[in-house]
Amino acid sequence: MSGKTQVRLIDENGLRHDGRRFDELRPIRMQVGVLANATGSALVEYGKTKVLAAVYGPREPFQKYMVLPDRAILRVRYHMAPFSTTERKNPAPSRREIELSKVIREALEDIVLLAEYPRTVIDIFIEVLQADGGTRVAGVTAASLALADAGIPMKGLVAGVAVGKINGVLVLDLDEVEDSMGEADMPIAGAPDLGLITLFQLNGVLTEEEVEKGLSMAWSAIEKIVSMEKEVLRSKFEAVGEEA
Ligand code: ADP
Repeated sequence: MSGKTQVRLIDENGLRHDGRRFDELRPIRMQVGVLANATGSALVEYGKTKVLAAVYGPREPFQKYMVLPDRAILRVRYHMAPFSTTERKNPAPSRREIELSKVIREALEDIVLLAEYPRTVIDIFIEVLQADGGTRVAGVTAASLALADAGIPMKGLVAGVAVGKINGVLVLDLDEVEDSMGEADMPIAGAPDLGLITLFQLNGVLTEEEVEKGLSMAWSAIEKIVSMEKEVLRSKFEAVGEEA
């Protein structure tokens, strides 16, 4: 998706096509406990990108041999709803969705305290309801919130954001237009409380210096997003406390 730089996506004032500055996030919204039948759930929006995450478990799988004696197995399914893109997407899992499921699982696996639940599985379903760039990183944020909402212990909360290069400028939190027209796209996720990066991908070409600068932009944004996660979880558990 790189190399198409004919379209001007940054104006003479340095503003992006939607009016954002280079280091500005889209408006982010988060809600937890949005599904009654899942153990935990979260709805996360980065601008027009809308992602739902549902956690089931820990529970014994139907195929009892599919367990590990010393820890839970984390399974992740990332899926784009057929109505999430402008052209109806085939609902069958694509190679891209299978790859992203694995990448998102790896972004969470070392953070969840899986040893607390031997011989069980924990399922995370990530459903992209509306795609406008950054669905994998919004998916990681939603999954982390849904795990916390399910009461599954983690070493820290995780969040993700993408950084990219458009018209030669590094920008934070690309939307679909920027992602498809830009020169590079670098999705990153991590747990600021642990100082740990758990997802790092690069599509396109960046210099070493740009990677470093992009990483530092992404890291500040991830810290901000994790603070928002904490705030949302705090409000939820305070509300539960008041009900009790
Ligand atoms: P991410 O959503 O994590 O940025 P990609 O870089 O693969 O993942 O995709 C960028 C954007 O392209 C998506 O967010 C979505 O808006 C769009 N996109 C991806 N796959 C499709 C598809 N099958 N049909 C239409 N648009 C898509």
